[in-house]
Amino acid sequence: MKKILTIDAGGTKITCAVTDTTGKIIGEVEKYSTPKNINDLIELFKSIIKKYEDETECISIATAGAVNTENTKVESSTPNMPEGYNNLDFSGLSKKRVFVENDANCAAWAEYKLGAARGDENTITVTLGTGIGGGFIAGGRLLRGKSGRGGEVGSMKIKDKGRICTCRRKDCWESYASGTGLKMTAEEVASNDLCFKTSIFKDKNPADITTYDIIEGISVKDEYSLKVFNIWKQDLITGLINIANIFDPESIIISGGMGKFTDACEIQESVNKEIVVSPVKIKQAEAGNYSGMLGAALLACEKFRL
Ligand SMILES: [Zn+2]
Repeated sequence: MKKILTIDAGGTKITCAVTDTTGKIIGEVEKYSTPKNINDLIELFKSIIKKYEDETECISIATAGAVNTENTKVESSTPNMPEGYNNLDFSGLSKKRVFVENDANCAAWAEYKLGAARGDENTITVTLGTGIGGGFIAGGRLLRGKSGRGGEVGSMKIKDKGRICTCRRKDCWESYASGTGLKMTAEEVASNDLCFKTSIFKDKNPADITTYDIIEGISVKDEYSLKVFNIWKQDLITGLINIANIFDPESIIISGGMGKFTDACEIQESVNKEIVVSPVKIKQAEAGNYSGMLGAALLACEKFRL
């Protein structure tokens, strides 16, 4: 049986496991905190790879940031990765072949091959976390664009309100429908809406209200929290409608930490009321917490014909 060492390199943690060519994890999943310093990160990668490279055919890495068309290095990193991550020579980390791909693309591939989008040749996985990531499968192929950076749905402008996004542009979808977006909406509503005066969070500084507060508030039917979440949900729906109209996919899969707080059926109904293309399925992700690693392993198998 051919095996792959697969690694998920994120801003807070590094996860790794060995899989077979069907995306089944063999043995234990290992987890580490992401080192703040690039040299420590390289040492961590090396020690993981050294442990497993003899028994595996290749190394696959799902990473934060945009990856080049050759799947060999990160072209533009995200602020949560150590400085110098862009220049990291992944192929130099192992004597075996190394495959690198953006983590949102890997997650989308895992949903397509193993998860909620199985059988859908046109499908998009939207990852709702601190930001919003997107992975597009069109005609059974991963859409990478001319430089490997395609699918940045989070940067789509959805409003004309002037909210500054982390990318410094205004009104990106990501600045509304991500976890960060929910927090910003919470602060805005707290400052402008009377419902905050009777909220369970009324004694808090609006800037200190977290996404967890809002989720907790919803569970006790706090009017302010419900209002904030409703605005967030509408902003999420606006972006999903845009995606459906442009790509006419069979499905859109909602993934990521914020994804689990959404009701896919309800969102599907709202989206389908407004789109001009044929109805789209909206589903919760099913490929699990390790979808990045599994997608990376399966994509490496395609690339290296394993
Ligand atoms: Zn932006």
